[in-house]
Amino acid sequence: MKKHDSEKKAIIELLKSSGEDLDRLYREADETRRKYVGDEVYLRGIVEFSNICRNDCLYCGIRKSNRKIVRYLMTPEEILDVAKMMVDTPLNTIVLQSGERPGPQDRILGETIKAIKEHTNLTITLSAGNRDYDTYKYLRDCGMDRYLLRFETSNPLLFETFHKGSTLKERLMCIEHLKNLGVQTGSGFMIGLPGETYETLAENILLCKELDLDMIGIGPFIPHGDTPLKDIGNAYDDKEIFFKALSVLRIFNKEAHIPATTSYDAVFKGQGRKLALKRGANIYMPNITPTKYRKEYQLYPGKPHITDNGEESIKYAISTIGSINRPIGQGPGDSIKKRRKTCQL
Ligand code: SAH
Repeated sequence: MKKHDSEKKAIIELLKSSGEDLDRLYREADETRRKYVGDEVYLRGIVEFSNICRNDCLYCGIRKSNRKIVRYLMTPEEILDVAKMMVDTPLNTIVLQSGERPGPQDRILGETIKAIKEHTNLTITLSAGNRDYDTYKYLRDCGMDRYLLRFETSNPLLFETFHKGSTLKERLMCIEHLKNLGVQTGSGFMIGLPGETYETLAENILLCKELDLDMIGIGPFIPHGDTPLKDIGNAYDDKEIFFKALSVLRIFNKEAHIPATTSYDAVFKGQGRKLALKRGANIYMPNITPTKYRKEYQLYPGKPHITDNGEESIKYAISTIGSINRPIGQGPGDSIKKRRKTCQL
């Protein structure tokens, strides 16, 4: 049997663990996390700077066809104000996330990145969808350090079903561009998109490994009431699968940064991200979007802290991490791969 096939089989078995085997899976993921990336939990502040999007992804609450939300774009000054607020906090990375809107707006984004670099020593991550090589290069030259772009599902047919007019191949090409540009690259997928099977999930985990990513973000698919998938539930009945996938992901991607994503808290109220940190994750991303915009950026329902401000979200993150006796990471918290490369220079 080829290595890929035998690994896939092993992953599917792990994903079906129960009882003592499941306890062992969680323990092994936690030990792997401790051994390879340490006990520190790095904080990344996420700013959802715009919900304007050209795409109509079937699952997403900010898809172009959703007329129920008010579209917004934060000004460069507003973004810079949030960045300056972070300076006195333990958050050393700002993640700028938005809908996908390529075009003249990218120049303004580039200028905003330059301004953040001038006024702070924050590390900058962008998460704004597909772009061509030259645009990614321009943004990198402006000071962008990292990029997050999930492949969402490794099944090309499912990908095309959920993203009309776009292909998995294009998405993977974007990820290659980013890696070639030396940008720390994150990707990942949703767990339980309609039509997905255990085999798809195993392939998703293996694709992350193959891409040799710096960061991997995954989380449950949560149906949104104002999307075409509103009446279609998650592909799995058993919610435990969301943690099983996270633990297996850690075991197969030992050195990657893996965030405890917000969607875990949407499913497991107040406990999800905490449990994710105990089952393989090592990153926490408090939402620091100005309060007035938060309700317009609901990719899925049940997002916590919709009425909080940045300080409150950060406080909540610090107390969550403290409650499981883990230290907060100091410094930029670059990926292990990047740190190793820097050492060799
Ligand atoms: N426009 C950017 C940012 C996307 S939002 C991009 O395309 O990369 C970040 C992530 O939210 C998406 O990659 C997707 O995996 C997740 N997401 C969107 N809708 C969701 C839903 N209904 N349930 C769970 N996660 C969702």
